[in-house]
Amino acid sequence: MLPALREASRQVYLRSREQKKLDELQDAILDEQYLFEGIELTAKEKEEFRYKRTVLELAKRGAEDLDSFEEYRMPESYDREGKVKQDRRFAVALERYKDVDGENEKMNPFAEQEAWEEHQIGKAKLQFGAANRKKKDDYEYVFEDQIDFVKADLLEGFNEDDMEMEEAEIKKSAEKSAFMQLQEERKTLPIYRYRDELLQAIDDHQVLVIVGETGSGKTTQIPQYLHEAGYTKKGRIGCTQPRRVAAMSVAARVAQELGVKLGHEVGYSIRFEDCTSDKTILKYMTDGMLLREFLGEPDLASYSVMMVDEAHERTLSTDVLFGLVKDIARFRPDLKLLISSATLDADKFSDYFDKAPIFNIPGRRYPVDLLYTKAPEADYLEAAVVTVLQIHVTQPAGDVLVFFTGQEEIEAAEEILKARTRGLGSRIAEMIICPIYANLPSDLQAKIFEETPEGARKVVLATNIAETSLTIDGIKYVIDPGFCKQKSYNPRTGMESLIVTPISKAAAQQRAGRAGRTSPGKCFRLYTAWSHQHEMEDNTVPEIQRTNLGNVVLMLKSLGIVDLVHFDFLDPPPAETLIRALEQLYALGALNDHGELTKLGRRMAEFPLDPMLSKMIVASDKFKCSEEIVTIAAMLSVGNSIFYRPKDKQVHADNARMNFHTGNVGDQIALLKVYDTWKETNYSTQWCYENYIQVRSMKRARDIRDQLEGLLDRVEIEPSSSPNDIEAIKKAITSGYFYHTAKLQKNGSYRTVKNPQTVHIHPSSGLAEVLPRWVVYFELVITTKEYMRQVIEIKPDWLIEIAPHYYKKQD
Ligand code: ADP
Ligand code: MG
Repeated sequence: MLPALREASRQVYLRSREQKKLDELQDAILDEQYLFEGIELTAKEKEEFRYKRTVLELAKRGAEDLDSFEEYRMPESYDREGKVKQDRRFAVALERYKDVDGENEKMNPFAEQEAWEEHQIGKAKLQFGAANRKKKDDYEYVFEDQIDFVKADLLEGFNEDDMEMEEAEIKKSAEKSAFMQLQEERKTLPIYRYRDELLQAIDDHQVLVIVGETGSGKTTQIPQYLHEAGYTKKGRIGCTQPRRVAAMSVAARVAQELGVKLGHEVGYSIRFEDCTSDKTILKYMTDGMLLREFLGEPDLASYSVMMVDEAHERTLSTDVLFGLVKDIARFRPDLKLLISSATLDADKFSDYFDKAPIFNIPGRRYPVDLLYTKAPEADYLEAAVVTVLQIHVTQPAGDVLVFFTGQEEIEAAEEILKARTRGLGSRIAEMIICPIYANLPSDLQAKIFEETPEGARKVVLATNIAETSLTIDGIKYVIDPGFCKQKSYNPRTGMESLIVTPISKAAAQQRAGRAGRTSPGKCFRLYTAWSHQHEMEDNTVPEIQRTNLGNVVLMLKSLGIVDLVHFDFLDPPPAETLIRALEQLYALGALNDHGELTKLGRRMAEFPLDPMLSKMIVASDKFKCSEEIVTIAAMLSVGNSIFYRPKDKQVHADNARMNFHTGNVGDQIALLKVYDTWKETNYSTQWCYENYIQVRSMKRARDIRDQLEGLLDRVEIEPSSSPNDIEAIKKAITSGYFYHTAKLQKNGSYRTVKNPQTVHIHPSSGLAEVLPRWVVYFELVITTKEYMRQVIEIKPDWLIEIAPHYYKKQD
């Protein structure tokens, strides 16, 4: 196991060490017999009880066996004997990963943990049976909360006097026209009363750090104020966002507020999608896109103001931007620079930007009750679902926001919630479930902002994106399982992976704050007060310190920054990581012996892709297969959402998928076949359905492909095609990925050639059963094992032909 993975497991272990047996009362609720025995209840109480019991019973369907267990240990200590049955909790998310023989635990990062838990639960059940305690107080508590929460804290609110006035204003505005109403709403935002002061401060200082609670109006209002104050006469106003979804949704909102069409005066730019025009004066963009803009316009000449927003998120691109904009501000005194952040780290930003003044926007926030579980939850997904249902049944009106780590979890939770409320009909109030994550199509994204109808309750299932980037009004209840997916990088092995990690205290505080924006709220933390206190880090480690820097180094080199070691980073990356990136770029031929950018490197930097993918594309020129390689690059960029496996048709889906693998051509070539066949059907949706392919992903691949093809011209690559020369295509792939070579071992595992590591072919690969002697892989994912995903077979001789500086023939 890698250190990072081990660390994550250790955290889980520490968190759960204090696990005591859960209160048996949770079983009692299902035991009507017991509850009515010897206890006097009025008819009304009985009626109410029956109602709640029915609901909770349904809510708990399938969750019974998780209720009590005695202790909780490391997965490694779990007794592996016998076949362990798949845990239900990730079943939905896992369905699609099931491999051919139906053994479906391989993709699940928690499989081992779950199997072990299952085992423990079995043991615990034997020990405790259904011992019931008979006390009225206790089961009243059960009505309140099925998972035991203890209220330990209060997240203080402030400025309460002002709020009532603002609410009255909002009410008044209800009668006005939609546009006028938006204008009125703008005035109710906390930032509004500081408008003039803020504009004055921007006028007085070149660099300003702006701090304000999420939802105070920084992102949507400041660029509009600047426009109203005339800054757009001197150039555009740019505003960066760490997340694509945020850039799109905020731009849409601002366009609406200004009454213009999105893409005209107000636009956004994200990777592979430019929704701006010559008219655009307010431009929202991802931080990564602004980095790319530096390549074409190193002094940002077309901008009069640049706002680096959500600075506290400390994404890799934002951190690099800091260094670049700080530099530019020195020789462009006319450029205004705003660094805005949600409360955290303001002093640090100010110090970094030569003691720039801090402008504070006092927020509007109501108090939030912090509730912790009495004992750690073994399964936060299940616990979150149960908590949603508890809130829905027992708590007054108000919407719910749940934080999950990613799309799979959100989809799983959505499905479970739907299944458990199905058939309840009018017995419970309507529940509107709104998922939100990066890959959600934009028409569905808008749903989270729609007002909740009277009598219904909105349940937003979100990733980190709802922590600070997006503000959803009307949230009164937050459920925080305490985890997020984090990138982690090991410079020694070059392995990058996404791991579910406990969040920091700072993040937990942000999450809780989401419950108190429009009224007092409650935050249900699915962890104990003890683990919050003792096991969570204060702050999240900035991404720059835990990621591969290949991309960034290539970018900085093409901006002419020679000395990366002395680049002015807010927090420098580990030296080892920098060296590793330089070394890799050197191996790819992007840098020469002196660490200078080569012509090849310059061409590679034109593509908004990982250096290995860029190299593959540039190399396709030589192998006369640029058409095919661009398709492959686009398909790989879409991610793992091409194929899908409906639960009831897995065999069909697998057969359909395997058709593309005929001749064991390898996964990248199979992706090429999928695309080309789709193209032959004139991009038919029907064909996608018939072949269990996600049409949405295919359309995205087509968009990406169009853009990449457009870039070929810029690097002077003539379109060429050799659809039948599989070897040429594989050689072009190898030109980018020779770094990712692995050789078969006697036991069926593989060993990576450089920095030897044991790895395996991912069960979803077409070559999983074939086990070729030499393979090149696209990426490693670490779940229960280190898996290579997207694999092709190669001949070892190619390595010497393609990367002679890197591989030498062994005598
Ligand atoms: P901040 O950047 O300070 O966190 P924002 O400017 O993002 O604040 O949000 C201000 C207000 O605009 C919030 O009330 C939020 O709900 C609203 N808002 C932002 N984006 C949208 C959207 N796409 N649709 C509807 N309302 C939105
Ligand atoms: Mg914002």
